[in-house]
Amino acid sequence: MSFCVTRPVFALLTLPLLFATGCKTPAKVDPAPVPTAKISEPETLPPWIDMPLSWEKLRTIELWIAAQDAGQRDYWLVEGELQLAGGRLELSRRDLSQEKARGNTDMLTTRIKAARLGMEKISQDASANPSQRTRASDGIARADRMLSELGKPALTLGVPLVARAQWGAAPAISANLTRNKGGWKRITVHHSAEADPVPLDGSLESSSEGLRQIQRSHLKSKQPPWGDIGYHFLIDPQGRVFQGRELAWQGAHASGNNNIQNIGVCLLGNFEEEHPTPEALASLGKLLDNLRRVYSIPRREVHTHQEFKSTACPGKNLEPWVERYSENEAQKSRTSTKSGPQASAKPSEASSPKSNSTSGTKSPMKNSGKASGKTAGKSAANTKKTVN
Ligand SMILES: [Zn+2]
Repeated sequence: MSFCVTRPVFALLTLPLLFATGCKTPAKVDPAPVPTAKISEPETLPPWIDMPLSWEKLRTIELWIAAQDAGQRDYWLVEGELQLAGGRLELSRRDLSQEKARGNTDMLTTRIKAARLGMEKISQDASANPSQRTRASDGIARADRMLSELGKPALTLGVPLVARAQWGAAPAISANLTRNKGGWKRITVHHSAEADPVPLDGSLESSSEGLRQIQRSHLKSKQPPWGDIGYHFLIDPQGRVFQGRELAWQGAHASGNNNIQNIGVCLLGNFEEEHPTPEALASLGKLLDNLRRVYSIPRREVHTHQEFKSTACPGKNLEPWVERYSENEAQKSRTSTKSGPQASAKPSEASSPKSNSTSGTKSPMKNSGKASGKTAGKSAANTKKTVN
């Protein structure tokens, strides 16, 4: 990247400025955010810190963030994300009245939603300092005001998230991850069903150790190596929702191209043998509702793993819940439209991991007769003791 070459020059230019504006002496007058812990070495100062707000600056921040190690979250990485989200909001505010007058607010709404999600993530990020989290909360409120001005509902994931730092996630290896492109179009539900699971005693620590074990196995025993835990969200029996793989990245949970634009949600437990708790199901319902709302995903695009692959996942005691959840709208769309690319999918395709098209836009079985698909999944579950 070109700024790798220019970074020392930026450092030379910005360092005196920083001192001049009191960045190192926060007690006085400077109202700007001040790093209170672990300030990066001067030569690593990011290239965007002195740029005036513009789309060019936001592009520079985006490129800089992409070049950072996603697992090494520090002050500057959080600051970059914060300024990116804040910049998107401010530039959107400037366009608001004009776009509203034109009556075409879709792009603006998408931009504000993206900024709001960025702010929401920072507000719950243990590696953000208190001042950054406060600015993120202010940003969320600001985004909500703008959305409401556009006549759109406020957005939130609706559940408190246990951040990666809180559960002790190992750093993600971005070289082994694929960026998610084009938003999210479906969600797949799993159970963890490990061969030798960590015993859960209800504490946050035991669930965290459970997640760390899953992450270790995903990082170490996959070929080619995975860059992180495969799921985007995990839910423990107490209903705590954990941030897994960041939503910036495509997941690794539904086999090959089935992972494209597919959010992976995993409940801790083996639901071939036990039943999910009401707390876990309540959180799953809220998370699915809110992910669908945020990403405009229809109910019928909420799937079980066994719809993509011959596996018992998510287990006979969780599978009916997911089917019921997605059924309502699938029923409606079957009676109202009857058509669509999925109508031709054969039930047998469900048992082949690679059978789904590479388009990433449709899933194999819903709408094509759930009953037959379900039967295929069931028989697969009965004949094959596969895992997650
Ligand atoms: Zn699974």
